[in-house]
Amino acid sequence: MGRAVAIDTVLVKLASRCNLDCDYCYVYRMGDQAWRLQPKIMSPETLEVLAQGLAALVADQDAPLSIVFHGGEPLLVGPDRFEAACSTIRRWLPSPVGLHVQTNGLLLSDAVIDVCARHDVGISISIDGPAWMHDRHRPDVRGRASHAAVVASIHRVLSHPTGQDLLSGLLAVVDLEADPAEVYAFFKSVGAPSVDFLYRDGNHDALPFGKSSVVSTEYGDWMVRLLDVYLADPSPIRIRLLDDMLRLILGGRAVKEGVGDEDYGILVVETDGSITKNDTLKSADGSDRFTETWTVHDDLKSIVSSTSFLAYHDSQKPSSPKCLSCPELRVCGGGMPTHRWSARAGLTNPSVFCEDQMRLIQHMRMRIAPRKVA
Ligand code: SF4
Repeated sequence: MGRAVAIDTVLVKLASRCNLDCDYCYVYRMGDQAWRLQPKIMSPETLEVLAQGLAALVADQDAPLSIVFHGGEPLLVGPDRFEAACSTIRRWLPSPVGLHVQTNGLLLSDAVIDVCARHDVGISISIDGPAWMHDRHRPDVRGRASHAAVVASIHRVLSHPTGQDLLSGLLAVVDLEADPAEVYAFFKSVGAPSVDFLYRDGNHDALPFGKSSVVSTEYGDWMVRLLDVYLADPSPIRIRLLDDMLRLILGGRAVKEGVGDEDYGILVVETDGSITKNDTLKSADGSDRFTETWTVHDDLKSIVSSTSFLAYHDSQKPSSPKCLSCPELRVCGGGMPTHRWSARAGLTNPSVFCEDQMRLIQHMRMRIAPRKVA
């Protein structure tokens, strides 16, 4: 057995379906139909075997990891099964193993919030911004608006006695047609402690929505405007992506994948217990599967030490000549693998957001230069 990848994040698909129908979803809207073959929810038996396997992995790598209940929409399992799932994980994997749920917020009832409080489950809620922009991208499966229900859920979490600790943050997808100042003001108004922004998915063969060419900078321009609003706020909320990039520019480290040159060990477990690659790769060529058919019944240590897994892990590293000689490689990191992809060159491209990131980084350097300690 060779070098083992240290796993820091495990995405557990508790449910394979969703009660929203987001127009940019990489699971259901990018042509990949594999979700149809998955059980709607993960069985208690599968979760039990997974939890045991992860406990052995944590002991072996001698480092904790974070487990994220994901989907689809993980809360579609219902409060009782959710309680059982949290209890199973915590029986095998107590703190300091992190446990989180990434939810669209529609099913975040008081009962579910109580479960999260009991089992120390951090809650991250997806919401894009004010109603007019959120609702045009994130209707429910019957086409109805979802914003009001999500905002009500955010307030429900925050009004829980431990709500400030439970709500780890909000997750938003950038809408280029929205004013960054309005989006930022919205997130402040709902009392969010932090918000993370994602760019719309795309690659060199299918450009992200709103990007007119690989050399255009629509996303960079939007983020520059957001940065200026952020830096002008005397009591800002945290914006993970901007904070990570600013920290990297100042010589520190990022805390999450997407920027910087850290490697992240990510394991994805589908509802049937199969182990796949990071599922954002679905939006590239459906290359989110290993050639091996691994499940939670296999030895996880053998999986993360295998040649295939190491190759997948190493594919996070940028490999295009342009990135390898880029002066901003340490900050940008070359982008997410899915954003580097093309049919012709695979992942050996710069990010499709290369020019956007360059524009943002240069603006950051200009803005923080006077603040540097002499
Ligand atoms: S994607 Fe562009 S900005 Fe990022 S490291 Fe590669 S060349 Fe540099």
